[in-house]
Amino acid sequence: MGFIRNIIINALSIVTVLALAPLGGEVAGAGEVVHVYSHRHYGVDEKLNALFTEKTGIEVKVVNAEADQLIERLKAEGESSPADVLITVDAGRMQRARKEGLLQPVQSEALTRGTPPLLQDADGYWYAYAIRARVVLVAADRVKEGEIQDYEDLAKPEWRGRVLVRSSSSSYNQALMASMVTALGEERALAWARGLAANLARPPQGGDRDQIKACAAGLADVCVSNTYYFGLLLNSTDPAERAAAEKMRLVFPNQNGRGTHVNVSAAGVTKHARNVANAKTYLEFLVSSEAQKLLANGSQEFPALMDVTLNPTHEKWGTFKIDTETFRKMGEDQPKAVRLIDASGWK
Ligand code: FE
Repeated sequence: MGFIRNIIINALSIVTVLALAPLGGEVAGAGEVVHVYSHRHYGVDEKLNALFTEKTGIEVKVVNAEADQLIERLKAEGESSPADVLITVDAGRMQRARKEGLLQPVQSEALTRGTPPLLQDADGYWYAYAIRARVVLVAADRVKEGEIQDYEDLAKPEWRGRVLVRSSSSSYNQALMASMVTALGEERALAWARGLAANLARPPQGGDRDQIKACAAGLADVCVSNTYYFGLLLNSTDPAERAAAEKMRLVFPNQNGRGTHVNVSAAGVTKHARNVANAKTYLEFLVSSEAQKLLANGSQEFPALMDVTLNPTHEKWGTFKIDTETFRKMGEDQPKAVRLIDASGWK
C-alpha cells in the first residue's frame, strides 16, 4: 500500500450543523454517525463520504490503516471498539475477519442484488462493492497479440529479463500468489514464483504505476498491475503519464482457462457496531448507482456488477472472465502463499 495514515477524522462538523435544520424526511437527526475502519487509500472516498452525509445526514468518521492493523485493532478493542464498518481491499482479509468473529451478518436486498453473487460472503458478513483485476500489461510495440496469455507465461524462459512487478510483500501480489497456490498446488506455484523472480528486469521497486512507466520507457516488455492504476494513468492530468500508458496494451490473463485474478473493495458491519442501522445504510449507499459511478470514474475500479458502461476506459477494455474459483479460497491460501513467496526469491 506504500503508506500508512493514522487516524483521520473527517471533520464534517459543518454538515452536521446543517443536518439540524429540517432538510427533509430522509435526513437523520443530529449526531448520527458511522465509524469506518478502512484500508482504502483513494481520494474518491472523501467525495463518496461527503455525498453520503449530504443524502442521509449521517456523519462518516474514518480511521485509515492497513487491513492487518485494523483487524488487530478490532480484536484488541473487542466490545469497546468504536468501529461500525470494516473496509479492506482484499477478500482474503475479509474472510479472515469473519473467521475471527469480527463481523456480523447483514441481510439486505439492495446488497444481495447490488453486488456480484460469486464475490460476496455467502451469509452476508461482507459485500464486495468494487472490483480490480490484477492483469498483465505489455509494451504494444514490442509484444505481439497473443504472445503472452496466462500468468503462468510470466515464468517462462523466453521472458528472461523482460518482466517488471512490484515487491512480493504487496498484498496485491500475495493475493495473486494465493490464487496460484489454489490453482496449481504448492509445488507448481513455488516454481512459478521462482521463474517470475528469475525473469525480472530489475529488483522490485515502487508501486504498480512505476512498473507501467518503466515498461513504457523500455526497461522491460511486460509488467503486472491492478487495472485501476492503468486506468488512472490513462486518465491522468499529466500528459507524460497518459503518453506512457498509451504505449501499453492490457491483457486479461487466463481467459481460456480459470479466468483473471481479481480482488475487491469490500465492506462488512463489525460484530460490536453501535450504529448498525447507519452501517447498513452506508453499505447500501456504496452499491447505489450514484456511488458506483463515482467509484468507477474516481478510483477507476470496476463497479460491483461490472457495468463497464459507467466508465469509458472500462468500456474500451471490455468484459472478461473472472477467476471466481480461487477467489473463494483466497483467505485460506494466503498464509501458504506468503511462505512460498518468501522461499521463491521474489523480493
Ligand atoms: Fe492500490
